[in-house]
Amino acid sequence: MERLCSSISLVIPCYNEADNLDALLARCVATLNTLGMVWEIVLVDDGSRDNTALQLAHWSVREPRVRALLLSRNFGKEAALSAGLDAARGQAVVLMDADLQHEPELVPTMLQRWKHGIDVVYARRRDRSDEPWFKRTFTRLFYRMLNATHPRVTIPADAGDFRLLDRHVVDALKSLPEHNRFMKGMYAWVGFRSEELPYTPKARASGQSHYNLHSLVSLSLSGMTAFTTWPLRASSVLGVNLALLAFGYGGYLVLDYWLFGAEVSGWTTIVVSTMLFSGVQLLSLGVLGEYIARIYEEVKGRPLYIVHRHLGEGLPQGGGIT
Ligand code: UDP
Ligand code: MG
Repeated sequence: MERLCSSISLVIPCYNEADNLDALLARCVATLNTLGMVWEIVLVDDGSRDNTALQLAHWSVREPRVRALLLSRNFGKEAALSAGLDAARGQAVVLMDADLQHEPELVPTMLQRWKHGIDVVYARRRDRSDEPWFKRTFTRLFYRMLNATHPRVTIPADAGDFRLLDRHVVDALKSLPEHNRFMKGMYAWVGFRSEELPYTPKARASGQSHYNLHSLVSLSLSGMTAFTTWPLRASSVLGVNLALLAFGYGGYLVLDYWLFGAEVSGWTTIVVSTMLFSGVQLLSLGVLGEYIARIYEEVKGRPLYIVHRHLGEGLPQGGGIT
């Protein structure tokens, strides 16, 4: 069944992207104008410290189909994406980055697939040879661990946030109440007919990536705690195995004492085993702590983001379908 042309929203989170906005928006507007459908661009300024907000204000005056939400501070990309998804009114919604790594010219291809009934068209990087080896290894390991225990939900590696979502998918994502928003997992969790579109990301147009090792580790911890519980199980399994080992070794020492008498040695054994056991205990407490921290975040029930100002008009309520 072919979907009828209707409306499309581009959702773009921006954090300190002032130097990229002109080129980005010019290319987006040019591409969207070729589609022959009504459109809007929803930009979310995630508390930028540069001129991003000012640029967005100019753009929203010049082109009323460009809308901007200015968040009250930096909430992080996942929250900015949620803000954009909440605000978008199109029947199809495309998420993309502001740094031109995701080419707007790919949108018509995504839209073609959507028109043929696909609900999620996600861009999948052809290769990661542009990334440093530690990031590649870390990513591969992370996805393997993330998908280790989820037979029904597979989170594809190499697929990021550059994707087209049908209105039903957007509504499903909006209905997920969690505050710990690991979007890549949530896309997979909601399901729907998905198809990949191979692409080669371009180099960042201007500025630097906002993700360093620390933020990548923190994002992966969110992903692990949001989508798996096996680290909890693993710490109990580790505990049981070590206890059995300790029990066996204890028995051996007692027998040794009875049969051969006391011998004052074993300093190394004491030090090594104390360090091992306290290490394992701290590790397990850490794993537990990560989950408790997420529970605490959820229980507080704070909003995911706070919008400070709305600029521009975009599509009318209801998606602009006449
Ligand atoms: N971004 C954001 N809030 C943040 C960090 C990043 O909205 O706290 C946006 C950023 O402006 C860009 C996108 O998320 O549009 C991807 O960020 P970046 O290019 O730094 O990430 P990378 O491409 O290195 O994964
Ligand atoms: Mg980027």
